[in-house]
Amino acid sequence: MTAEIIDGKAFAERLQAGIARGVAALKASRGIVPGLAAVLVGDNPASQVYVRNKTRQIEAAGMAGFKHDLPATTSTRTLLDLVQRLNADDAVDGILVQLPLPRGIDVEAIFDAVDPAKDVDGFHYVNAGKLAIGRDALTPCTPMGCAMLLRDRLKNLAGLSAVVLGRSNIVGKPMAQLLLRADCTVTIAHSKTRDLPAVCRGADILIAAVGRPEMVRGDWIKPGATVIDVGINRVPAADGKTRLIGDVAFAEARDVAGAITPVPGGVGPMTIACLLHNTLVACCRRRGIPLPAI
Ligand code: NDP
Repeated sequence: MTAEIIDGKAFAERLQAGIARGVAALKASRGIVPGLAAVLVGDNPASQVYVRNKTRQIEAAGMAGFKHDLPATTSTRTLLDLVQRLNADDAVDGILVQLPLPRGIDVEAIFDAVDPAKDVDGFHYVNAGKLAIGRDALTPCTPMGCAMLLRDRLKNLAGLSAVVLGRSNIVGKPMAQLLLRADCTVTIAHSKTRDLPAVCRGADILIAAVGRPEMVRGDWIKPGATVIDVGINRVPAADGKTRLIGDVAFAEARDVAGAITPVPGGVGPMTIACLLHNTLVACCRRRGIPLPAI
């Protein structure tokens, strides 16, 4: 079997075009422009690229982007003050604090300080709690994007066996909650799980989010399964440069799975599209107005 390649890039482009239409409609009908504040602390080159991409996409969708660059020496207090200013600023619907933060900053205090209504990353415990009990939450972008790709391919996920490899608060756990909401039978696996290959082989849906290059081999995959590879690992390439690979050994998995996301071009683009989606949702919910058609 040769797996269908799930084109996250194309899906994300369609979603972003729909969001741009929704933003234009909101502007035309109510004069509202959704705004996202992106906060970057320090000079991590990968974070600089991520934030630049996110603000560029925000602006391309017709929203307002507010970029805040702070030095690596920034204190927790200074960052908290900025977050509080952004919480109070009505032009800001979403607040994104780019991870990782420099050592010495109290990450939990920062995330706890973000107004849950503006928490477009879905990291605040109020949103995590709402997701867990089935209430409307701002949902972490990467798992939300994975869930959209799964719904698009499988339509009805009810009764399927889903294995989530990884239990981080930003990917694994919210992913498991979304799959549970979709009526899957969900297993969460992690570094202490015994006989990981056997656990994975039981999965109709396998989500790999471990950050270990090509850890999931072809013979870990149930024939016909849908495989979502969240991993982004930069490894040396033959030409002396580097390249990105996932947590799944793609060439092996492609021969067994029914469908699989590539890296790059799978989950990555969906994460940014879902950030735009959350910003539009936050904008409408904060104002108590319906979400425009997207
Ligand atoms: P974390 O490091 O926070 O979590 C990794 C998880 O994998 C942990 O739960 C850990 O288990 C588990 N794990 C690690 N090693 C093993 C192993 N050998 N066997 C079984 N389980 C293992 O990572 P994130 O969740 O933040 O990210 C995961 C991957 O997804 C990374 O490659 C990251 O770059 C990528 N990512 C991609 C995004 C995108 O937009 N496409 C967005 C966010 C992340 P334990 O809890 O027991 O330690």
